[in-house]
Amino acid sequence: VSQESQDVLNAYEWLTKLYHHLLRHTKEGKTGYQYLIDRGFTDEVIDTFQLGFSPNSKEFIVQFLEKKGFHPQTMVKAGLLSMNDQQEVSDRFRGRVVFPIRNHLGKTVGFGGRSINNQEPKYLNSPESELFHKGRLLYNFDLARSHIRKQEEAVLFEGYADVISAYAAGVTNGVATLGTAITEAQAKLLRRYVDTVVICYDADDAGVQASYKAAKVLKKAGCTVKVASMPNGMDPDEFVQQNGAERFRKEVVDVSDTYMSFLMRFLKKDYNLNLEGDRIQYVESVLDEVALIDRPVEREHYLKELANEFELSMDTLTQEIMARRQKIG
Ligand code: ATP
Ligand code: MN
Ligand code: MN
Ligand code: MN
Repeated sequence: VSQESQDVLNAYEWLTKLYHHLLRHTKEGKTGYQYLIDRGFTDEVIDTFQLGFSPNSKEFIVQFLEKKGFHPQTMVKAGLLSMNDQQEVSDRFRGRVVFPIRNHLGKTVGFGGRSINNQEPKYLNSPESELFHKGRLLYNFDLARSHIRKQEEAVLFEGYADVISAYAAGVTNGVATLGTAITEAQAKLLRRYVDTVVICYDADDAGVQASYKAAKVLKKAGCTVKVASMPNGMDPDEFVQQNGAERFRKEVVDVSDTYMSFLMRFLKKDYNLNLEGDRIQYVESVLDEVALIDRPVEREHYLKELANEFELSMDTLTQEIMARRQKIG
């Protein structure tokens, strides 16, 4: 690690502590603290995840870092501070609740800031930097890693709040991407520790669409993919806060769909299966997916399902699969 990176890490550590202290113990942080308490986050959770608050002041954080001996230029370059067109340096998270984002060693390398007064954007993340690669980090991976190994399963969430609520309730094997779609690098990172990944995104259109994309990426990285679903419109944080961890496990995680069942359901919504043309197109799109499965037993399982549902012969379906697999090579 270069001297400059070490400085930046130190600055991140100071800021993590400062934001957290301000939230927990000062009147400047009171609105942030109250916001989290109202959402059902306990003091213990706030401490575990070192949640903090950045006061609504232009100079406070800048002066703090300066006093600690960090150069504003370095801080701007590393993304800790932002600079406007008038060359004024300020904290981009001011007025926001701050979620420290830790690397696999537990060191803060970025922040996510949530507005607490409906200000857009709802979440603001640190910019990409030498230490903060959004496409390579997973939120909470440092704490979840050993649980993922032990439970032989990881749960992939959309948001920081989902990870935190689940963790607090005892679902300790959860991670999230940093506000972006899961990348190949993140999928490979997970695969190094675990075979099975349960995708548990929000139960809205965006969440289902993103589940489909994430399922593909994880599958490609060699994971066994499952997809959980929840009552319409809910997200995991809301579900856990309302119903507790036991129901979350029993009604969401443990009954999640297999990759293919999810895919079949997902593809179905684009077709009207009362129409012959749509039926054929649907079967073809499922066959495209089945052809990608490596295990013959698994392929046959889904072909039988298709054969039954659409009154097709296994011979025909098997031929279709062979043709597709030859093309793929
Ligand atoms: P909350 O419960 O605090 O409202 P959430 O996690 O449910 O947050 P979603 O709207 O479901 O929020 O978004 C999921 C994730 O996507 C967030 O945790 C955040 O990382 C990211 N995100 C959401 N909105 C934005 C935004 N406007 N800009 C950047 N990232 C965002
Ligand atoms: Mn969402
Ligand atoms: Mn959400
Ligand atoms: Mn939410």
